[in-house]
Amino acid sequence: MKDLHFYNTLSRKKEKFIPINEGHVGMYVCGPTVYNNVHLGNVRTFLTFDILFRYLKALNYKVRYVRNITDVGHLVGDGDEGEDKIGKMAKLEQLEPMEVVQRYTNDFHHVLEQFNFLSPSIEPSATGHLIEQIEAVKVLIEKGLAYESNGSVYFDIEKYNEEGGNYGHLSGRILEDLLNETRELDGQSEKRNPLDFAIWKSASPEHIMQWPSPWGMGFPGWHLECTCMSAKYLGDQFDIHGGGMDLKFPHHECEIAQGTGLTGKEPVKYWMHSNMLTVNGQKMSKSLGNSFLPHELFTGSHPLLDQAYSPMTVRFFMLQSQYRSTLDFSNEALKGSQKAFKRLLNGLRVSSTLKYKADETQAIDEKKVAEIESAITGFYEALNDDLNTAVAIAQLFTMLKYINMIYVNQLHTSALGEEVFDKLIGNYKLFFEEILGLKEENGDQTAVLDGMLNLYSEFKENRRYDKVDEIRAYFKENGMVIKDLKHRIDWAWEE
Ligand code: AMP
Ligand code: ZN
Repeated sequence: MKDLHFYNTLSRKKEKFIPINEGHVGMYVCGPTVYNNVHLGNVRTFLTFDILFRYLKALNYKVRYVRNITDVGHLVGDGDEGEDKIGKMAKLEQLEPMEVVQRYTNDFHHVLEQFNFLSPSIEPSATGHLIEQIEAVKVLIEKGLAYESNGSVYFDIEKYNEEGGNYGHLSGRILEDLLNETRELDGQSEKRNPLDFAIWKSASPEHIMQWPSPWGMGFPGWHLECTCMSAKYLGDQFDIHGGGMDLKFPHHECEIAQGTGLTGKEPVKYWMHSNMLTVNGQKMSKSLGNSFLPHELFTGSHPLLDQAYSPMTVRFFMLQSQYRSTLDFSNEALKGSQKAFKRLLNGLRVSSTLKYKADETQAIDEKKVAEIESAITGFYEALNDDLNTAVAIAQLFTMLKYINMIYVNQLHTSALGEEVFDKLIGNYKLFFEEILGLKEENGDQTAVLDGMLNLYSEFKENRRYDKVDEIRAYFKENGMVIKDLKHRIDWAWEE
């Protein structure tokens, strides 16, 4: 696929990506609700959009990436009734709600940094945009698309649909079915219709997070923040909106209704949803008790793990499947990824040491040149085909094969020609580091290791085999091997 294509949840098919403003991309991703530690499931979703951000930038788009922090309005149970997730935690821990928010925002940033995520262009928070949210509620009431009831304001779905709205079209739900599902629920007597959702909620005195509004003291409904913040920073209509599959309904469905209600225009051109990270086939989630915290992986302290895994191994593991397929998390799968990642990583290190050597006696090996060229285009084609990182990684392995052949002197660089050699080395680094966001995790040890290898060579020459064995053992203990190649001595990560 030459052009970039994404699967659009709205049209239910792959579509060619044509940004609204040529050369520019506006992208909004629902961020975390900062009341607890991020787990690996969350990481998978944010990784999908990190890759998208990186890839769009690599294609020279000017990207504005907005990822919010939900710090108010997301209620326990995800509905319109009950405690605020952050308020509940604040009571439990006897903290100010903003202390809870700060603690888990810090954790979120720390985890994403460990996984080598790029920061978004803007990271707005819901509490920082109360004025915009109150204004939006006023407009929706003026337009007759929302009504006040006991100090709360609800979005009127029937009215919205009468006026041409299509509530349910993103998630493919039929209004009648939705009505049947929700009819039984209690506590919705304030609503004209059980499907109507809160855009402003009146707060009882015990509810900690509340602000004055034209409808009394209260707080904004969860879905409203994303509508207001995306419109503020990306405009009434923008290119890409992302999030995990589980946000499709009701969160994103409600965002479409609010955005369309406010401006009369569909707010988002391409809706992209990342699939779930599962454990034994079940969605990884805090409430199901099957979640893994990143540090449990890095230390190997989770009962289901028999060893520790580094952040880059986990990042690589997640990239080995395309974002729309489910990904099941297991010790065995991670082990396989660790091995494969180390092979690629060794390739990165080796490739930085290779130099082109001109040799007129070497004929160009057309077959190898063609295979390298096709791996490079194949990498782009895979990502153009709805961000297929799994196939892109396979192309990287083809490139690795040639890097290793050069490294062990099986292939002369002249057989490729200087241009293809440079392309191979340059693109390997670009794909590995910039686009897939992978990196060497122990980079600064290289000088020390090189020094030890010099000693190793000297001991070897002087037949001091006790010392030779000692150094070998040291490398092994640290997950490395010494390579006695014909033309040089080197080290590599043990694969
Ligand atoms: P939350 O903080 O619960 O609102 O979730 C933050 C993001 O993580 C949302 O986009 C969710 O869709 C996503 N998410 C939650 N659980 C998983 C999971 N098991 N796999 C992938 N994404 C998830
Ligand atoms: Zn959102």
